[in-house]
Amino acid sequence: MENFDRLVEGNPLLAQMREGKEVLWLNPGKTSFEESMIGCELGPKDVEDAEQRLLRFAPLIQKYFPETRRQHGLIESPLVEIGAMKKCINEKYEASLEGRLLLKEDSHLAIAGSVKARGGIYEVLKYTEDLAIKHGLLQPDESYDKLGETDIKHFFGQYAIQVGSTGNLGLSIGIISAVLGYHVIVHMSADARQWKKDLLRSYGVDVREYQGDYGEAVKRGRALSDADPNSYFVDDENSRNLFLGYSVAGKRLQKQLEEMQITIDEEHPLFVYIPCGVGGAPGGISFGLKQVFGDCVHCFFVEPVQAPCMLLGMATGLNSRICVQDIGLSGKTQADGLAVGRPSAFVGGIMKKMLSGEMTVEDSKLYDYMRDLLETEGIFLEPSACAAFQGPVSAGRVQMKQYLAENGLEAKRKQAVHVAWATGGSLVPEEIREEYKRA
Ligand SMILES: *Cc1c(COP(=O)(O)O)cnc(C)c1O
Repeated sequence: MENFDRLVEGNPLLAQMREGKEVLWLNPGKTSFEESMIGCELGPKDVEDAEQRLLRFAPLIQKYFPETRRQHGLIESPLVEIGAMKKCINEKYEASLEGRLLLKEDSHLAIAGSVKARGGIYEVLKYTEDLAIKHGLLQPDESYDKLGETDIKHFFGQYAIQVGSTGNLGLSIGIISAVLGYHVIVHMSADARQWKKDLLRSYGVDVREYQGDYGEAVKRGRALSDADPNSYFVDDENSRNLFLGYSVAGKRLQKQLEEMQITIDEEHPLFVYIPCGVGGAPGGISFGLKQVFGDCVHCFFVEPVQAPCMLLGMATGLNSRICVQDIGLSGKTQADGLAVGRPSAFVGGIMKKMLSGEMTVEDSKLYDYMRDLLETEGIFLEPSACAAFQGPVSAGRVQMKQYLAENGLEAKRKQAVHVAWATGGSLVPEEIREEYKRA
């Protein structure tokens, strides 16, 4: 094992992180959007391809999940203004946040109740389309709701889909795969919540539990899947498909902002704050937003103080060659989905020149923000999703002022639009919500 002590001692940021302190980091490697896309393995065509695929599947989604009918089978969440929460952030946390504060409610996405309904479901649909075409089940121009017919469901039943998960990814992959007819196995780490396992089992999902951590569940799942030629393993760390599923959020948000008559341009910058685990969801969403808004959007990730894996990889330049345990952090957090010790190398590579910065947040603050939002707006989010509020709360910090100055944004603060990306919560059962409220 390498010794990272020297690295930490020569670096004030890492020294603070090692002590579990909250930090705000600006990415010195950020370039113009144009430059960041040079040599990038993914591009606007890939995002467009993902959008089109989701449109093709919309009739099938609508058939299985009537709650998506109003959106014609698209899985999309509301974008709402949270003025009372903005007031609270300014008064209680002295944030001096200007401009508008919006909440992107992926917490309320259909089917999985979290941001994972974007990437996870997309990945299973992509696999399904490939399989159906390969076996001649779909003719060009045929409506995809045909894939819901009994004989085709039986055909899918010969195939297995497997995933390792701490919870939300398992919910999204598990539910969609089970409904489509697959044999689905979700490999859960010991810390996964009981209600998530119960919910999956109610869909007929094969849930396997492991004593070890998330890494152990992934390892076992992958080995089992690799041994079965009819099994597909969803790889949270390296999947381009998951990433592209998330990226579709870019154009969807653009449309919603237009409907709210909110302009984003050079004079009206957009700031987005997204909770980060392994990096796929915030990375994919940011990538999609960048394709639409280019240099006018400023993307920040938020991670728990004990599990800031993406920040560690980016700030040291070591990407996935370093993990939070290497600098003495536990990797443990109350925030479901964010307890990740090592970032995705693939996402780290793409974000290197696109990301504006990162904030870290203490677990106790997540519960404070959760109660604040409930009191001011009557909206419930799971604690991990509340990490997003560390973004707007940090508006008055010196590094943020530095960021505004360096990017010529000081005079535009009042016209800015801030989006806290709420990544999960609507499926959390009532008794667990009560538990969270008391925490
Ligand atoms: C998974 C998850 C995230 C982060 O997504 P990654 O792809 O792991 O970075 C954030 N919030 C919630 C609620 C999640 O479930």
